[in-house]
Amino acid sequence: MADCIFCKIIAGEIPASKVYEDDQVLAFLDISQVTPGHTLVVPKQHFRNLLEMDADSTSQLFSRVPDIARKVMKVTKAKGMNILNNNEEIAGQTVFHTHVHLAPRYEETDGLQISFETHEPDFTALAELAEKIAQA
Ligand code: 5GP
Ligand code: ZN
Repeated sequence: MADCIFCKIIAGEIPASKVYEDDQVLAFLDISQVTPGHTLVVPKQHFRNLLEMDADSTSQLFSRVPDIARKVMKVTKAKGMNILNNNEEIAGQTVFHTHVHLAPRYEETDGLQISFETHEPDFTALAELAEKIAQA
């Protein structure tokens, strides 16, 4: 897709530090390196984000993730890894070509902060919402 930075990387029009490539998927180091070894796994076909993808294309993408993640872990000697995918601007998406972040974790203060604000459970509301989603 024209004007998509990741399509340009896939096409070889701009450089990237590639760590894995096959006919459907490419993985390369994120230019910003939130933690050392921060890697992006992308489908070669352009999709705006995961919400636009079907089961087959999603399966192809995610089937590569565990192997690539283990290689990154092995080389970086990280203690853990956050595997993240942002969809739309409100969720932090800045590049609108589907990508999965592999962020190796070293310490709590290694540069990546993820926090979930928790609430007292309202079991009636949970049941109603779950039912609506199940029926959607
Ligand atoms: P998002 O915020 O959309 O989930 O993540 C986009 C990621 O793409 C960011 O972490 C950013 O550093 C990375 N990125 C943006 N432009 C480039 C680029 O030209 N090359 C590489 N390797 N990564 C990029
Ligand atoms: Zn693209």
